[in-house]
Amino acid sequence: MASGLSYSVISSRTEATFDSTVRFYHRLGFLQIVGNTQCDDPSLVRQTWMRLPSQCSGATSLVIKIVLNPQARLIPETPLTTDWALKDRMFVLTMQDLGGLKREFAEHGVPYQDTSTSLVVQDPNHNVIVLTQHLNPVAQQPSVPTATRRKKIGILTSGGDASGMNACVRAVVLYGISKGCDVYAVYEGYQGLVDGGDYIRKMDWRSVTGYLSIGGTSIGTARCMAFKTHEGRLQAAENLVKHGIDSLIVCGGDGSLTGADVFRSEWTGLLDELITAGRITVDEAKTFRSMTIVGIVGSIDNDMSGTDITIGAVTSLHRICEAVDSVDTTALSHSRAFVIEVMGRHCGWLALMAGIATGADFIFIPEQPPSDEDWETSMCKVARRHRELGKRKTIIIVAEGALDKNLKPIKVDRIKDILSDRLGLDTRVTILGHTQRGGSPCAFDRILGTVQSVAAVDAVLSSSPDKPFPMIGMNNNKVTTQPLMDAVKLTHEVAEAIESRNFQRALELRDSQFLDEFKVFNVTTILDDNSIELPDHQQLRIAILHIGAPAGGMNSATRAAVRYALNRGHTIYGVANGFSGLVRGLFEKMDWMGVDGWTTCGGSHLGTNRAIPGKDVDMGMVAYQLQKNDIQALMLVGGFEAFSSLVELDKVRSEYPSLCIPIALIPATISNNVPGTDFSLGCDTSLNVIVSASDAIVQSAQSSRRRVFVIEVQGGRSGFLAVEGGLAVGACAIYIPEEGIDLPRLQGDVQFLKGLYDTDDPEKSEGRVILRTEGVSTTYTTKVISEILEDEGGARFDSRTAVLGHIQQGNTPSPLDRIRASRLAIHCIEFFEKHTCDALDQAEYKRQEGPTELCTDDDSIAVIGIHGVDVQTRSVKELLPVTDMKNRKPHEDWWQRDRALVDILSGRSYYSSIE
Ligand code: ADP
Repeated sequence: MASGLSYSVISSRTEATFDSTVRFYHRLGFLQIVGNTQCDDPSLVRQTWMRLPSQCSGATSLVIKIVLNPQARLIPETPLTTDWALKDRMFVLTMQDLGGLKREFAEHGVPYQDTSTSLVVQDPNHNVIVLTQHLNPVAQQPSVPTATRRKKIGILTSGGDASGMNACVRAVVLYGISKGCDVYAVYEGYQGLVDGGDYIRKMDWRSVTGYLSIGGTSIGTARCMAFKTHEGRLQAAENLVKHGIDSLIVCGGDGSLTGADVFRSEWTGLLDELITAGRITVDEAKTFRSMTIVGIVGSIDNDMSGTDITIGAVTSLHRICEAVDSVDTTALSHSRAFVIEVMGRHCGWLALMAGIATGADFIFIPEQPPSDEDWETSMCKVARRHRELGKRKTIIIVAEGALDKNLKPIKVDRIKDILSDRLGLDTRVTILGHTQRGGSPCAFDRILGTVQSVAAVDAVLSSSPDKPFPMIGMNNNKVTTQPLMDAVKLTHEVAEAIESRNFQRALELRDSQFLDEFKVFNVTTILDDNSIELPDHQQLRIAILHIGAPAGGMNSATRAAVRYALNRGHTIYGVANGFSGLVRGLFEKMDWMGVDGWTTCGGSHLGTNRAIPGKDVDMGMVAYQLQKNDIQALMLVGGFEAFSSLVELDKVRSEYPSLCIPIALIPATISNNVPGTDFSLGCDTSLNVIVSASDAIVQSAQSSRRRVFVIEVQGGRSGFLAVEGGLAVGACAIYIPEEGIDLPRLQGDVQFLKGLYDTDDPEKSEGRVILRTEGVSTTYTTKVISEILEDEGGARFDSRTAVLGHIQQGNTPSPLDRIRASRLAIHCIEFFEKHTCDALDQAEYKRQEGPTELCTDDDSIAVIGIHGVDVQTRSVKELLPVTDMKNRKPHEDWWQRDRALVDILSGRSYYSSIE
């Protein structure tokens, strides 16, 4: 085929030939651009446009149109006994990977003739196609780009399994195919690479259906001794070459990734050895001279340095929190103590986070052994103090690798004996073991696995032999690529620091969040012995109120604020029912035990209300009540109404001296639409509710019929829940307010769904979901969309709706929401102290009564939010220009970066051209 042709038309005379022609050209590497491969209406012409990506061919813009035309000229089949290349009409395509095509043809029983330089095949219409590695002599040489092979990516999961590995496999397969690559799964980790054969299987779009909701790894993982030997790696290299795989994505822990690094560093030497032994040809070695390997960290321990979070850790935390929450109730009933062992050999992340999220009394982690030689006495003191306050349960969480200062292991049985003997507590031990690995991945791990794998495929496509072996990580809520060995080195340094008893260094080597969380645990869980109490004159009177709809984490934030504030010597008041309660003077003093257990409770124990001061309630009354109760700092917990309240208070501050106090908002709304934070409290809980509801809905749908569910999610004018939820459940379409819905969009989606169901296995009933944000359109309601789909789906599929409504607020807050809440609350109290200490010091110096006006600077009315892994404080004045007050959201949403992925992974452009 000469360069310069706009397209070629291939006519098929029957439906069956049309379908097999589409499949045939797809096998050659063509991808569908547009077209109706399936059609019930006989009056419509079936046609499909396909394009050969430039990386598969030397030619430019290779486009074909396949049409169903019963009148087309019949081309007789040329028998295998004649030389097909002598025909006077043929297509000549420049292809680089003839070996791979040969295997493909053999696998699907497609006859071909092999000359030394080309393969000759006939398409189902008997057109002769010559596939050659040489450039077409009639093509203009300069216009032909340098040819590259079609990429063949292998994906394997190795080491300990982690929930979310399947999301990785799925995204590598789908995104890889959508980028024109072939993707192979290597089953059973490195063992499959060494054993080769059937352990290495080509994946297609449907191979990974349903993977998102399955825990562990569906392609298997193993610990492989053979791969640690040179002979094993030599065999693995031969298998990769023989399968034509030129890039490998490895998802595993630091052991697996170290193994991958060894493999890559030896690669050229392994090829030379294979040539010498006659196991591969020189040509093969030339083609596979550079092997690209990319690492993704899958580990429940979150023990890899250089990334904020690893795949599987958050799901594991979910399992731990579920277990501790359950143990909690029995401990409370019997007034027992429980010592719970969680995983983590050199890393206390799980124990620490579980400690914060469940409000445990004491934790033991390897990085930070108890500071006292006699940790037994310190632990008993804390447990006794808590019991004296009236606590009926004692929960101690122990990382399996916990050590004392002298590196002596701290074991659960020893702790149990101490609690029983010294305090007389009825103590039980629970070792959570492998339950921590299992179960369906939480929303966070599904999204993490997906976005990291997309980055891994991009890294493969942009790799060059001179670049170091990249590891995909996460830093400040952004996917990062960095040299793997740097991260591995830092990871090993943690273990070395612990072994040399340099615990300070071990803590520093963890990310900044770890240090911050460590403090959060200590100051919110352990009733202090006055060591962090402020001098009398710096102690504040703080009020807390909840505003807007309830969201998971509101109570956790309140509990943490109350406890830290009490440890600092402040007095803290809960205000019932938001600003409408405040103007009625509903202030109540809070104490340590009053908030016990709040961390695990959803909703709002204080009571919440949407009233905004200056609009729904009188501003003068707000100021009066604050003055009357001598409130010196105000903590708001809520969503966009709370932000609007902050704006209103800021406007009139100069008019009311009692408003000249620090005022902070901790964002809490499932819509995640408050400016100044990446995540508001409640949005993770909500995503998890959406994920489990969608999983159940898909299961119900596919158990009985081919059905599309239109699921309505909340979010106001923000598409956050639909986009991130859509990514986590593998939605085939989403409708969000930022884009709206129109008729062409709906028509396109109807065609897309018809194509999906037409190409499904007729024996299976597939359930699919569409997520629609409630506020996206008043015309195209959830019901209307579903009815359109039902009508258009005809015999192919039916449609139903599911409106998730208020269950999205969740019952129990997710671990991430609890932890974020505690962290933000501590920063909020610190913010109050920072903005009042000068004025209070001055007053003390002058021996005056506390001043009414504690602060007036712009910075002292602010949102305390999460930016990546850090906590950030941004004033209202700073946030107003970046806020769309009309649509109640920030002008820019970080999560929009994931929007396109939902469509790509749904297979919108490619699905119907894939068998
Ligand atoms: P994880 O990846 O979860 O840390 P392991 O440390 O058990 O788990 O490693 C998993 C597999 O990675 C091992 O069974 C082995 O096949 C391979 N591997 C680990 N370290 C090396 C190494 N230094 N050289 C070669 N292969 C290794």
